[in-house]
Formats: sequence, C-alpha cells, structure tokens
Amino acid sequence: MSTIAENIANVRERIARSAVSAARDPSEITLIAVSKTRPASAVRDACAAGLRDFGENYLQEALEKIEALSELPLTWHFIGPIQSNKTRPIAEHFDWVHGVDRLKIAKRLSEQRPAELGPLNICLQVNISREPSKSGVLPEDVAELATAVAALPRLKLRGLMAIPAPAEDSESRRQPLRALHECLQSLPMQLDTLSMGMSDDLGEAVQEGATMVRVGTALFGQREKTDDPATPPATHTKTEDTP
Ligand SMILES: *Cc1c(COP(=O)(O)O)cnc(C)c1O
Repeated sequence: MSTIAENIANVRERIARSAVSAARDPSEITLIAVSKTRPASAVRDACAAGLRDFGENYLQEALEKIEALSELPLTWHFIGPIQSNKTRPIAEHFDWVHGVDRLKIAKRLSEQRPAELGPLNICLQVNISREPSKSGVLPEDVAELATAVAALPRLKLRGLMAIPAPAEDSESRRQPLRALHECLQSLPMQLDTLSMGMSDDLGEAVQEGATMVRVGTALFGQREKTDDPATPPATHTKTEDTP
C-alpha cells in the first residue's frame, strides 16, 4: 500500500531520471500536486511530506481548502477552466492561474487582483493538439494574446500551459509537448514557465522542457470518475490497493 510520501518519492524519481537524461537540473522543475476532489487532510499530509504547490480545478472546492489550510505555507494554482463571473475569487485567493486563454479573462483578473498582493502569475493555455471542443488559444494566436496580457498591470505573464490530447506511444505524446516548447520560444518576450506533464506523460514533458508538472493520480491514487476533461476514463490497471 503506497503512502503519499512513497508516491512523492516515486514521482520525484521519475522527474529526476527524465531531467538527467535531458541534461537538465531536476531542481528547475516544480511539482504541482493536483488536489482536486481530495479532502483538505490529503493536502495537509502532502504538505507534511514536503510538497508546497497545489493545483485545483473547481473553484468552490478550492476556496474551502485554501481557507481550511490558511496556516500552511502553500502556493495555490488554479488549473481549471475559468468562467468570467468567477474571476474575482480566483484573483483574490490564488498565486498562479494556468488556464487563461482570452484577453477578457486576463483583464478581469488584473482589475480584481488586490493591491496588497503581488502580481498574479499567469500561464496562457494553448490548444496545442488543436482539438475542436477544447479550451486554449490556438498556437498561431498565442503571440498576440501574450503581448496584450504582458501589458496588464496586476498580472505577471510567466509562460504557457497545455493539456495535450491523450496518446498511446511515447513519440506521439512527445510531439505536442515539443510544439508547446517551440511556441514558448517563438514569443516576442522571454518567459520562464512551461506548465505541461501529468501523471502519464510527466517523463516526456520533463525531457521536452517542462518547468512545472501537474500531477494528481500518481500522487493521490485514482480519482472518482468525473466529467473532468483532463480525467479520461481509467484505462490502465491500478498499481496500488485502494481501501
Ligand atoms: C486533473 C488535472 C491534472 C492531473 O492529472 P493526473 O492525470 O491525475 O495527474 C493536471 N492538469 C490539469 C489541468 C488537470 O485538470
């Protein structure tokens, strides 16, 4: 039976192995623990085991955890889709937002970021696999959006984020990750963050230049099935016992 500490050690080992194979320093890569659907107690345990960065998709659930755990030194990342009428609590309670794909949302986040907090860190979400029904700006439109977002006063544009279409083999997983890296390098400004890589493709993502990986299942076990687009129905075999 794996404990959270063992799972963290395994994920860190995967990150380190991939980093070394790409001649990168593993300390350049931030592990974001995706705690959506997990109770606050799971976040507390992960914090005790050394994690500080947590990613949440569902606003109401996230706000409850942020409030309950306010005494812990945590960095909170909003990684879900953003509705324009929900920007204020995001601007007030998070440190990072990874899913910005429209200027309207960015403007609202900038206007609503409280003056006493530092600028809100932003990654633009790119629809790197060009899936018709998925969120994200298309690669050819990223530069224009990045230029506009970089000019907003209460935001700090940090980089790009993507959720590539699922793929069976390693080379097909790698292609969109490489494309996101190239997209970052093609921008008119220098940015330091590539948010890509989840439980199944974090090795490829690190090899292709990820600086933040967003990992849920490999740390906390399988989630209950939801309609979350980033949670395809479980097709792989569980590797651990669940109670
Ligand atoms: C759920 C989610 C993840 C984590 O996915 P796992 O496969 O459980 O590691 C990462 N990023 C986003 C945007 C998510 O919604």
